[in-house]
Amino acid sequence: MADDTTAQPSKKLYIETVGCQMNVLDSELVVARLRDDGYELTDDIDQADAILYNTCSVRQHAEDKIYSALGRIKNLKREKPGLSIGVLGCMAQKDQGSILKRAPHVDVVIGPGQLGRVPELLSKARAEEKPQLAVSLARNAGSRDRVTSSFDSYDADREPAVRPSPHQAYLRVMMGCDKFCTYCIVPSVRGPEQSRPPDAIVAEARLLALQGVKEITLVGQTVNSYKHKTPDGRVARLSDLLARLHDIDGLVRIKFITSFPNDMTDDLLQAVRDLPKVSRYIHVPAQSGCDDVLKRMKRMYTVAFYEEMLARLRETIPGSSVSSDFIVGFCGETDESFEKTARLLERSRFKNSFIFKYSARTGTKADSLFPDDVPDEVKRRRNHILLDLQTAISLEDNRAFIGREVEVLVEGPSRSTTRKEGWDGPDQLVGRTTCDRIAVFPGPESLAGEMARVRIEQASAVTLFGGLAGGANGRTA
Ligand code: SAM
Ligand code: SF4
Repeated sequence: MADDTTAQPSKKLYIETVGCQMNVLDSELVVARLRDDGYELTDDIDQADAILYNTCSVRQHAEDKIYSALGRIKNLKREKPGLSIGVLGCMAQKDQGSILKRAPHVDVVIGPGQLGRVPELLSKARAEEKPQLAVSLARNAGSRDRVTSSFDSYDADREPAVRPSPHQAYLRVMMGCDKFCTYCIVPSVRGPEQSRPPDAIVAEARLLALQGVKEITLVGQTVNSYKHKTPDGRVARLSDLLARLHDIDGLVRIKFITSFPNDMTDDLLQAVRDLPKVSRYIHVPAQSGCDDVLKRMKRMYTVAFYEEMLARLRETIPGSSVSSDFIVGFCGETDESFEKTARLLERSRFKNSFIFKYSARTGTKADSLFPDDVPDEVKRRRNHILLDLQTAISLEDNRAFIGREVEVLVEGPSRSTTRKEGWDGPDQLVGRTTCDRIAVFPGPESLAGEMARVRIEQASAVTLFGGLAGGANGRTA
């Protein structure tokens, strides 16, 4: 009989993550640390001993969501005084102590550069019965080295349970950002740009492959600016890193996000062309199609430069796909400047575009230099116009796949409610092509993590629908 007199009752952790892939990855690392500290994950917030929000500051809306969530759990804390509540990530770094003023029931406020300390600070808050705040230095608070070292990096603690799927993982190659686009809060909350040493990245990728990961996505705010200098003066670029990762047994696909237009060098494009495991998909945001707006955004390129880069990319990597981000309603964006953005979007034929309404962020250059002068209803209208244009392009390009066979890496059961028209059969699988197009098709769950061939029969703007091709199970060799 098991001796349960010594068994520690495990503590339950509820964690909610908003924002980008960087945050998804941060949450994975936090959960890994807390597991070592005796926590297990729960989906039920009422059962939790610790509730953590890993937050985003890029737009106001993301912050509002967190403050409302904190308001909703106030009563929970009253009913369960042992409950620990934490605000982690970018909002913690941006708002710091003011979070505790606005939500005094919060126990820990921990910036993205301090996340390795989550277990220690949760215990300290409980032991001392007072809130704990841990943030990194502001960008202007000291020398670059001092500020950089206040943004800690992690060991390769990895926790499969929080990944998007067991076969897919994010892998950080860079931290921070030095571009200082005038609208963007990221350089202040994520700190100076740092590229991790290639050996550490390769070791982490090997560990992931051993855990059964088939696809890794390298993440960095401007991932194609990756550059690591060794003490002997050698420089590793993203293309060098891709070549090393390509040799790892077990990995079948390597992606990287997000790229900056000015850093799209030929060696990188050639690596994408020549390394078959590297996804032929590049996310390289244009943000605007108007030179005046790009200048106010301090994006450091013109529309002509962006289009030349796009042409070079497509010429070097045939059959590739490209996606973009756009901000509508940035300070001083006139009807005429918006028109130019709409025309750029039409000409560029992106696979998809993420379109955001400009949200003024305290602490950014744009917020102090330019009035937020485009009314919200105009932002909303422009947002819809771009979305409609992009949807029409995506639909037309996806329809060109009907009747063709594509090879996909199967991610697992399709969680979306999207169904092929007329389909009322069992749940379907979802996979992605090397160009990041989503395909949904019926098939056995055992195909998850495998490559499969799918014959496309129908298409929507975001999804290709079809059936397994080539043999009973559709597996490719
Ligand atoms: N580093 C990436 C890049 O430069 O493309 C993207 C990082 S940012 C978290 C993701 C996207 O959010 C940006 O590409 C931009 O379109 C959007 N974004 C950033 N700041 C914004 C703001 N203040 N208002 C609206 N959208 C914003
Ligand atoms: Fe923000 Fe610009 Fe850096 Fe992207 S490149 S994170 S938009 S400052």
